[in-house]
Amino acid sequence: MSEELEKLKDYEWLLNRLYQKVPPKSGSAEYTLPEPQVLRIGSQTIIQNFREISQRLKRDPQLVARYLQKELAAAGSYDPGSGQLVLNVKVSRKVLKRFLELFLKNYVRCPTCGSIDTRLERRGKAWILVCEACGAEQPVKPF
Ligand SMILES: [Zn+2]
Repeated sequence: MSEELEKLKDYEWLLNRLYQKVPPKSGSAEYTLPEPQVLRIGSQTIIQNFREISQRLKRDPQLVARYLQKELAAAGSYDPGSGQLVLNVKVSRKVLKRFLELFLKNYVRCPTCGSIDTRLERRGKAWILVCEACGAEQPVKPF
C-alpha cells in the first residue's frame, strides 16, 4: 500500500471517529413523529395513535387535541381510554402530519438550541416555552 493511500485511510478513520463522537442531539432536525394512523368515517377523522404522538411531542394529549381543533376549526374529543382523538372534520393524514410538525416546531422545540427538552408554562395570559437544556425562554402564541 502506498503512503498516500495510508494517509487517506487515516483521514477516513478520523472522520468516522469524529462523527461517532458527536451524536445528533435529541432536538436535532432528525427528530421525527410517528406517522399518524388515520381512520376516516363519514365526516369524522380518527387519529388512532394520538396518545403515542402526544408522548413523542412531550405534551398532554388534551393540549395537542386543543391545538388541532383550533387549527382545523373543528370540534373533537380525546378518549384517554383508547388514546384516540376523534375530530369532527374530514382531514387527510398529510394535513394532520403538517400541523403536528408545526406544533413540534412552535411549541416543543427550543428555538435557541434546538432541544426538545422543553415545557410550556402559562404566566397569566402569556405562554412561555421554557428550555430545560439551555434555559432559554421564548413567548409563544397561546391557543
Ligand atoms: Zn434550549
